[in-house]
Amino acid sequence: MPIGKKVIIVGSGISGLTCAYWLSKHGFDVKILEKEDIIGGTMQTYKEDGWLIEKGPNSALETTPLFQELFQDLDILNQRIYANKESDKRYILRNSILHPIPMSPPAFLKSKLWSTKGKLRILKEPFIGKANKEETVAEFVERRLGKEILDYAINPFVAGVFAGNPEELSVRYAFPKLYALEEKYGGLIKGMIKGRKERKQRAEKAKDRAKMFSFIDGMHTLPAAIYNKLKNNFYLNSFVESIIPYRSDKNTRYVINYYQDGESKTLESDIVILSIPAYSAAKIINPIDPETSKILEQIYYPPVAEIFLGFKNDAIQRNLDGFGYLIPAKEGRKILGTIWSSTIFPNRSPEGYSAFTTFVGGSRNPDVVELDDNELLKITTSEVKNIIGISGHIQFHKIIRWERAIPQYNLGYGKVLDVIEKFERSYKGIFICANYRGGISVGDCVMSADRTVKRILDLI
Ligand SMILES: Cc1cc2nc3c(=O)[nH]c(=O)nc-3n(C[C@H](O)[C@H](O)[C@H](O)COP(=O)(O)OP(=O)(O)OC[C@H]3O[C@@H](n4cnc5c(N)ncnc54)[C@H](O)[C@@H]3O)c2cc1C
Repeated sequence: MPIGKKVIIVGSGISGLTCAYWLSKHGFDVKILEKEDIIGGTMQTYKEDGWLIEKGPNSALETTPLFQELFQDLDILNQRIYANKESDKRYILRNSILHPIPMSPPAFLKSKLWSTKGKLRILKEPFIGKANKEETVAEFVERRLGKEILDYAINPFVAGVFAGNPEELSVRYAFPKLYALEEKYGGLIKGMIKGRKERKQRAEKAKDRAKMFSFIDGMHTLPAAIYNKLKNNFYLNSFVESIIPYRSDKNTRYVINYYQDGESKTLESDIVILSIPAYSAAKIINPIDPETSKILEQIYYPPVAEIFLGFKNDAIQRNLDGFGYLIPAKEGRKILGTIWSSTIFPNRSPEGYSAFTTFVGGSRNPDVVELDDNELLKITTSEVKNIIGISGHIQFHKIIRWERAIPQYNLGYGKVLDVIEKFERSYKGIFICANYRGGISVGDCVMSADRTVKRILDLI
């Protein structure tokens, strides 16, 4: 049926690329329009002098079997690498000391990360009822687990995942699985026990159990492999400006207006997938649906900077036996946390050196991203050296800035999702598939693409 049916995908991030790949396998005539001269969106890898720097995601969690199937199909299974076992260990900074996050009940009891009072508070959790209003992550966690767990576990975790603020994110939309534990099972502890069995049946893995992977040459391997399969379907340097519907033989079709290398062009299509950030989609749909456009425009994407640092191994005093550390807001540091990149995966630094990726900014400290390169480097280097215990000079550095990094699923996000659904019902054939719907992680984007492809197959 779909043979030859035209699909235009706007945006070549992981969401758009996976839609493109699967739809072309189903026989659709797929074209991908990307405003940059490179595909992959956020998923970019740089290499310089033996250092491997991830501009966006440093890794992904294998939360769905779709990854395995996709890599096999793309012939990149042999390039996939799993995170070093040592990186299961993660640290949280408290009073300037790195404390490992306990991984077992005895380790939890012994841990100095939380006070005895904070730990005992968790015992109340199974007896706490449901909320009667939509809550922020902070309200939810404080109510169920207490303030200390919020400040010294969830606050840094939220900074690590969303570069976000637990006081603003909606627990229901930003962490739907956590929220569901209360909704479905009446509590987190009860839910974790019962939920494990159900996930097994769905062949899904919880994020805390899924294996972490990348590729020997970095995350861009995945977009590059899709590009190699669909080379002729890409329109690079093509900035989409608007989509205009028109009626043709009782069906709605779409004219896509775009600029390629400064020249105004058009394409026509039966189906359009918008796999671009919400603020870009807002501009494109404004002429046909100003109301939805306004709501998409309001989604907050805080700025984030990544500061990649390289040091000689003999300058580092501590054993880098982990994934890295996250920093609670209460610690009053300028940085959010640091990934020990060369511990997690091989091929991230030259022999005899170690690589560190530090994140700054986010909803917590957006102004820090405004600092000039020298200041940003000075602050980050000083904090990283102080926290880890490094005495020598930096041997390599790279600063990457994302002006609008990650969409925040803030309180009231249900309204955003409702208007997206309404928009799709009004404009049959336009689909929205990007990281501001269905989750921000690479795995979430791939699962959203799978759902979008299935919806398109149902439509035709
Ligand atoms: C710094 C950072 C670190 C991250 N780390 C991780 C991690 O370790 N693990 C993890 O799972 N996730 C991580 N994420 C999240 C994850 O990487 C992203 O959510 C995901 O890659 C987004 O993919 P996407 O396809 O939805 O959008 P994007 O990657 O943003 O792609 C959108 C594409 O659309 C193009 N575009 C925009 N407007 C137009 C237009 N008008 N016309 C044509 N093209 C247009 C853009 O150029 C871009 O290529 C991270 C994100 C950031 C920013």
